[in-house]
Amino acid sequence: MNSSIFVVPVKYSVLHKNDGLIILTSSIAPNLKSSDKAVRTKLSLDCDTSQQLSYASTQKYRQNRECVQQSKRKPLPPLPPQASEEHKENITVIALYDFFAKGPSNLALKKSEEYIILEKYDPHWWKARDQNGNEGLIPSNYVTENKRSNLEAYEWYLKNINRNQAEELLRQKSKEGAFTVRDSSQQGALTLSVYSRPRGSQNGDIRHYQIKKDHSGKYYVAKEYLFSTIPELVQYHQHNAAGLITRLRYPVGTVGNCLPATAGFGYEKWEINPSELTCMKELGRGQFGVVQLGKWKALVKVAIKAINEGAMSEDDFIEEAKVMMKLSHPKLVQLYGVCIQHKPLYIVTEFMENGCLLNYLRQRYGKLNKEMLLSMCQDVCEGMVYLERKKFIHRDLAARNCLVNAEHIVKISDFGMARYVLDDEYISSSGAKFPIKWSSPEVFHFKKYSTKSDVWSFGVLMWEVFTEGKMPFDSKSNSEVVREISEGYRLYRPYLAPLPVYKVMYSCWHEKPEGRPAFAELLQTLTDIAETG
Ligand code: ADP
Repeated sequence: MNSSIFVVPVKYSVLHKNDGLIILTSSIAPNLKSSDKAVRTKLSLDCDTSQQLSYASTQKYRQNRECVQQSKRKPLPPLPPQASEEHKENITVIALYDFFAKGPSNLALKKSEEYIILEKYDPHWWKARDQNGNEGLIPSNYVTENKRSNLEAYEWYLKNINRNQAEELLRQKSKEGAFTVRDSSQQGALTLSVYSRPRGSQNGDIRHYQIKKDHSGKYYVAKEYLFSTIPELVQYHQHNAAGLITRLRYPVGTVGNCLPATAGFGYEKWEINPSELTCMKELGRGQFGVVQLGKWKALVKVAIKAINEGAMSEDDFIEEAKVMMKLSHPKLVQLYGVCIQHKPLYIVTEFMENGCLLNYLRQRYGKLNKEMLLSMCQDVCEGMVYLERKKFIHRDLAARNCLVNAEHIVKISDFGMARYVLDDEYISSSGAKFPIKWSSPEVFHFKKYSTKSDVWSFGVLMWEVFTEGKMPFDSKSNSEVVREISEGYRLYRPYLAPLPVYKVMYSCWHEKPEGRPAFAELLQTLTDIAETG
C-alpha cells in the first residue's frame, strides 16, 4: 500500500482519499484552534476522517515539512537549520484551567485556549505566547500538549484519580450515564467507569470496564466494537451502549474544577513581599507558631505560618525553602514562598480547607467507609512515591502532618521540616515530643532516617486512618513502646481494616529497613486492593 502523504498549505480538510493515497491539507500553523477542538466535547467526524484529521492535527510544521520532503512528487529544499530549531520549540498546548497573571512576567491563561510554548524555563514554569502575541511565564501544570492522542485534553479523562475517588465523583454527579476514563491499576492500562441509575431507582450502580487491546492493537470494551484510539471508542459509546450498562452521557473530569497549586507564585520567586499578604483568621497552632488563613495579592487563598522567635533554625530553612518550592505534586501541600523581610518569618503554603487529617478523621468518626479510608492512604502514598523518587525524606510522616482540601483530597505537609526544629523535647529521641510511636527502630535507636523509615511511619499513618484517628499504642509511654517494638510486638489490626489492608501496614513494620517495601510497591498494592474491592 502506498503510504506517502502529500501536504499542501491550506487549512485542514481531507481533499482526497484514493487507493490508500491520502491527500491531507494543512494550514500554515497546523495546530488546532480552540474552535476546531472538539476534543473536549464530541467528535462529529466518522472514524476514517477523524483518524486522518487526528494525524494532521498532531503533526508539527517541521514534521509536515519532513513529509513534504518525503513526497516523491514534489521534493522541496530542506529547511534552514535555524527555522527547523525554532519549530522544535513550538509546542502547542491547551489551557486546562484559567490562570490569573500573578506578576508582570506571567501570562494569563484562559481555559480551553491555545498557547505556544517558547521555552521550558524549568519543570514548573514555561514561557508561552497567546494568540494575540502576548508572552510570559505560565505554570506548566495548567496546560497540556494539544494533540488528539493526549487524553489530558479531554473532559472525560481523570488524571491521578483512584477507583474510590472516581466512584465518589460519579456519585456526586449522580446522573444516568455519567462516566470517566482513568488510569487503571495495571500500568499503562485505562479503565472506563460508568454510573447508571435506572429511572425510579434510588441507588446508582457503578461499573468499571477495563479498556483492552486486541492482537492488532485496537481498543475495545465490548469485543465486537474495536477502535484505533481511545477518543474514538468513547465517542462511539457516547452514542451506543453496545454492551455497556448504559451509553456514555455525562463526562466527569477534574479539569477546570479545582485550580491546582503552582510551584510558587512565579519562576524562581521564593521570596514573598509581606505587603502582598493579608491575614484573615487563625487556623491553628503548631510546633513553630500560629497558622493563619490569608490571601496573596487579594487573589489566592494561602496558609501563613508565623514562626515563633527561636523555634526554627531560620537561615538553614530559607536556603532549603528554595529547593522545597520545586517539590510540586498534587498530593503534597505546596510551599509558595517565604517572607523574610520582617520578624516573625512567614512561611506561605497552599490553603487546605478541611484542615489536619487527624482532626478530620476524629470529627467524622463512624461516618467514613472503608473505601474512603483506603483512598486517603492512597493519596498519601502517591505523595510519598513522588518524594521517594526525588530522594527526599519526610522524617515526621503522621496523620497530624497531613492536610485535607475542599475536595477531600489528602496531601502531605511539613516534609523535611523536622530538620529545622529548635526544641530539645522534639529533637532528642528521649524527649517528650519525639514521635517515637511513628518511628522505626533504626530511628529511635540511631536517628538513622531514610525513605524506609518514612515507610514505617506510613504504616502507622495507615493505622491512624483505619482507626479513624486513634492514638497508636494508646497511652503507653515512649519507653514502653520502644521495648514492645524491640520485642517484636506490632500495632493490632483496626477493625475497619480488611486483612489485605492490614498486611500492607504490617509490611511497613519490618524490623530491618531493607525488609520494608518501597512506596512505589505499596502504592501498587493499595491500588490493587482498591480495584478488586
Ligand atoms: P507546625 O508545623 O508549626 O507544627 P502545623 O503545620 O501542624 O504547624 O499547623 C498547625 C495547625 O494549623 C494544623 O493542625 C492545621 O489545623 C492548621 N494548618 C496548618 N497548615 C494549614 C494549611 N495549609 N491549610 C489549612 N490549615 C492549616
